[in-house]
Amino acid sequence: MQSCEIAYFSAEFGLDESLPIYSGGLGILAGDHIKAAADLNVTLTGVGIFYGNGYFRQRIDEDGAQQHLYPAVDPEASVYPVRPVRDDNGRPIVIAVPLGGRKVHAKAWSVRLGSVTLYLLSTDVESNGEADRRLTDTLYPGDHDIRICQEMLLGIGGTRLLEALGIRPDVWHMNEGHCAFLTLERIRMLSAEGVPFETALEAVKASTVFTTHTPVPAGHDVFSIDQMDRYFGDYYWQLGTDRERILSLGRADGAFNMTRLAVSTSSRVNGVSKLHGDVTRELFRRWMPHIPKPDVPVDSVTNGIHIGTWLAAGMKELFDRYLQSDWTVRTADPETWRAVRDIPHQELWAAHQQAKASLIAAFGLPLDASGEGPLVIGFARRFATYKRALLIFSDPDRLARLLGDARRPVCLVFSGKAHPADGPGQELIRRIVHLSREERFKGRVHLIENYAMDRAKKLVQGVDVWLNTPTKPMEASGTSGQKAALNGVLNCSVLDGWWVEGYNGRNGWAIESAADADAELQAARDSEALYRLLEEEIVPLYYKRGERKLPMDWVNLMKESICSLAPVFNTHRMVDEYRNRVYIPASARGKRFAADGFEVASRVAAYKQFIRSQWPGVHVRKVDLLADNSSRIGLNKSAFRAEIGLGAIWHKDVRVEAVGSDGRQGIWKARLDPVQQLAKGVYVYEGSSPDVAIDIWKANVNVRVTPVSPDFANEFEMELSAWG
Ligand SMILES: *Cc1c(COP(=O)(O)O)cnc(C)c1O
Repeated sequence: MQSCEIAYFSAEFGLDESLPIYSGGLGILAGDHIKAAADLNVTLTGVGIFYGNGYFRQRIDEDGAQQHLYPAVDPEASVYPVRPVRDDNGRPIVIAVPLGGRKVHAKAWSVRLGSVTLYLLSTDVESNGEADRRLTDTLYPGDHDIRICQEMLLGIGGTRLLEALGIRPDVWHMNEGHCAFLTLERIRMLSAEGVPFETALEAVKASTVFTTHTPVPAGHDVFSIDQMDRYFGDYYWQLGTDRERILSLGRADGAFNMTRLAVSTSSRVNGVSKLHGDVTRELFRRWMPHIPKPDVPVDSVTNGIHIGTWLAAGMKELFDRYLQSDWTVRTADPETWRAVRDIPHQELWAAHQQAKASLIAAFGLPLDASGEGPLVIGFARRFATYKRALLIFSDPDRLARLLGDARRPVCLVFSGKAHPADGPGQELIRRIVHLSREERFKGRVHLIENYAMDRAKKLVQGVDVWLNTPTKPMEASGTSGQKAALNGVLNCSVLDGWWVEGYNGRNGWAIESAADADAELQAARDSEALYRLLEEEIVPLYYKRGERKLPMDWVNLMKESICSLAPVFNTHRMVDEYRNRVYIPASARGKRFAADGFEVASRVAAYKQFIRSQWPGVHVRKVDLLADNSSRIGLNKSAFRAEIGLGAIWHKDVRVEAVGSDGRQGIWKARLDPVQQLAKGVYVYEGSSPDVAIDIWKANVNVRVTPVSPDFANEFEMELSAWG
């Protein structure tokens, strides 16, 4: 196989709590991704930022107010060796990045994990002014100027660092849009070698892939055009084109949008679960008004978790004993996990009790660790409002009755940080602190400070039920529930993100949320469904004890959960999927576009420019429905005839289709072929509808013309179509 070296850029990496340069799921995913790449011997170079003060350490004061502490991150304290990056002469490698008229220097740290090296940039070097030294102190600063500087450092600086190190990736993977300036820097480098802008853009695009994580427009990074001009005023011209063309790559709603830039400069875009792929198509459609949602070129690769990181020690011992000896390298094979069913019930239960006792001890929770109770429900993740930490308190009296049942006690354990600028998120923490002090919730509601990977491990391993109640469809994937599932902790979750794919009716509990209801109504329905599940299914099942006080049915559910979820929602499966479906094709594509002095890239660029210049002349002039479907009983096949004006465009450079609604969410398409030339540039196309029961008259059929090329990465690469 050809070489396939990956560069993986991300604003955060969560490898271990000793290196606190992550804030939540995005960073943990990046960390788990590179760990799995190392396990699978994928040649991958990670690029991120070394945040000098990391993400904050959380204290919660008497009143429930979140305090933010920023102790300096000590590279020496990391469990992964973190070393300064030096050149062959032992001198630190320093790169320069132009930031708002200044030349800012950055050094790098490296973290080695097998076949993977992670480079982390820092501007804390002596040659910088004091303000610039502080640029990389904190994660996701509220200040827009610091933010754009960090993103320029990550994208532009990261690319310069790889160049300085002589690393030439075949594929550039952008994990979320923060790092998308890397595409501009790569174009600049090609431009400096004399490659014309449009050719350079095609070459860069061919070898770049983008994973989007954010299902709401407000979550995407946006800079004003004015700010772009301030920071890129002296950079635009270096790319070999005009300012307007560069801004056009990211322009959306009058500003410069990093997600838009990433989409414009990648040949493959994916969301992080099937549902999120769908939500993303809807979201990106506003940028591609000619393309119906199902055709928006966005795929999905569902997230997973790194088993070696998240599995409890006692559980691992059990798996080592009962699974095949090579189970840790065959985690993506369902066969591997079948043996979980053969683990004696009491042993699986005992391993879980061990993890639960360890949780109780680690945080000094005043709970009985004997295994007879209480039922412990965990809710831990960032306190972002859409995650609805307080949903379970919707009816406090009903909850108090449930938790307070002396025969069947139930406890809630919360943990999480709210972003320092997120007031409403911090208010959630305060509310939980106050609720936990109410007489009716005393000893039943607990909040653990300073959620980070170490706390997350204890929690996902040691609670009985993992609760997840986001506003659907705001949870792009979610991964903490996957960590829980692996450990035999049962998920009770809104059917959102990964759980839509994971839930099989027998491996946990689902709250079927109606995403289109208004927020209050949705919350009312979801909380009602949650209470019913807790009262009628979860609590009774947990307390249904058999011989030796063993909850046999509960343990069966644990087994089903592990067997059905562990093989799918892990990063070995995920990275394998990236490798086969994303990296290998993009690597081949990138090489093909760059070969022979960028011959293919140059051809595609010229072709696109020609099509774009001629597209205003493309018209669907006339559409006729030929067959009368009412005369043929039971068969709704119809034929179409369309007259298409193509101007100077060749008739084989377009695809002509009849497109109709299938009456549900989807569309059907029927290909029309050229049968006659009426005049210069005017063609007749004909074809018939698919053999499905469609009511042609109601289906609102339209004919569309789309530019095509065997060199395009997908069917709508130019985001253009003409309709009639
Ligand atoms: C796994 C993890 C997350 C992500 O949790 P979600 O449920 O996906 O929001 C966030 N923070 C930490 C510390 C984690 O370990």
